[in-house]
Amino acid sequence: MIIGGGVAGPTSAIALQKAGVEAVVYEAYDRGADGIGANLVLAVNGYRALLELGVKHLEDGFDVPRYRYHIGSGKALAQVNNGNPLADGTVGHAITRSDLYRRLRDEAISRGVQIEFGKRLVNAELTNDGVVAHFADGSKAEGDLLIGADGLHSTVRRLIDPTELELRYGGLVTTSGYTSGVEVPGEPGTEFMYLGKRAFFCYIHDPAGVVWWYAAPTWPEEPTADELSALTPQQWREQLLDLFAADDSPAKTIIQAAEEITPPRPIQDIPHVPRWHNGRMVIIGDACHAVSPSGGQGVSMAIEDALVLGKCLRDIKSIEEALNTYERLRRDRVEKVVEFGRDASRSIAVNGQARRVFRDIFLPLVFNQKGAEKDLEKMSWLYDYRVDWDSPVAADSTVP
Ligand SMILES: Cc1cc2nc3c(=O)[nH]c(=O)nc-3n(C[C@H](O)[C@H](O)[C@H](O)COP(=O)(O)OP(=O)(O)OC[C@H]3O[C@@H](n4cnc5c(N)ncnc54)[C@H](O)[C@@H]3O)c2cc1C
Repeated sequence: MIIGGGVAGPTSAIALQKAGVEAVVYEAYDRGADGIGANLVLAVNGYRALLELGVKHLEDGFDVPRYRYHIGSGKALAQVNNGNPLADGTVGHAITRSDLYRRLRDEAISRGVQIEFGKRLVNAELTNDGVVAHFADGSKAEGDLLIGADGLHSTVRRLIDPTELELRYGGLVTTSGYTSGVEVPGEPGTEFMYLGKRAFFCYIHDPAGVVWWYAAPTWPEEPTADELSALTPQQWREQLLDLFAADDSPAKTIIQAAEEITPPRPIQDIPHVPRWHNGRMVIIGDACHAVSPSGGQGVSMAIEDALVLGKCLRDIKSIEEALNTYERLRRDRVEKVVEFGRDASRSIAVNGQARRVFRDIFLPLVFNQKGAEKDLEKMSWLYDYRVDWDSPVAADSTVP
């Protein structure tokens, strides 16, 4: 039983199906409840993991092979690859969250996986040889193993270990949108990043000319849900326009003309989850290691997890042993990626004008073309990572 039909859920169902294990996915919301929603970039390491499962290239969305960095004055710093392309030319890929969910669910269904919508897990109990899952509609299901792919606020995580976990706030909020009909510099596939004087902004043109954008204003004290919901869409748009007023960037033009802007939400991560499983229940994806969106790695980590868990359950006979091995093979990498995301949030936050002025003087000296290329070389551990589906894994394996 897999709880959650986001990224990790359908991907682990695909991996299990390939491994000869039958799984049913239970998703809390009805099919298609996502709307157009936010956009994200699937990094090349996550894309590689998806292809490793035999999933074909994504038709929705578009490739993002490079980033271009600027500071708020408009000064260009550097252009770098979005990771190294795979041997077949595959690069990072921008896609809306709803298109990605739909594609992964359709892929799982086309391979014979059953997905049940409108099934919110509320409780689960261990039996002698399995797990019974209870849903909000009063129904229940039984299986050998329960996989919690139920995201940041995971119910399965709490069932495995009721100790309340603090989500770590990253000092920023995020907001995004789509804007058509504006003339701003750039070509499809180049993501423009602006380290603005008061907030971070980035945008990409899609092949049809629509601008996909994302902003991350610094918000030192974590805002409450009430505080955020008190902001009307118009107030939020005005606040954003004010934040970008002093920058020489296309942010104002893009925000002014945006059809819709997502409400602000705090950037949070989960650096360390002490227990990942209890022998019959296990968590994957954001449920066990949410990465800050600034790292652009949450989806990739969820897909890599699914692959490794699938391999462990395929090759290791005892479920408990398989779960121990999955945790051992994944924990160091995902916790390192969470810290990478945390650092990325820190690097785009604007904490005081004096620091910002210093950053704008200092950054062009180190983060020039050469410096940026050197930085990218150091990121090989992240982007060039490969989980080989076909190679066997054992309880004492050191690589997945
Ligand atoms: C604003 C923002 C921007 C981001 N940008 C990027 C990016 O550019 N690149 C990137 O790689 N990552 C990005 N991320 C992170 C990425 O979205 C997540 O890491 C990824 O979606 C995690 O996948 P998941 O399957 O673990 O969880 P989710 O995608 O959250 O899926 C969890 C699923 O479980 C369901 N569910 C929850 N509770 C229950 C329950 N009790 N019963 C049944 N179902 C349940 C939910 O409805 C949902 O469908 C971003 C995140 C945010 C918030």
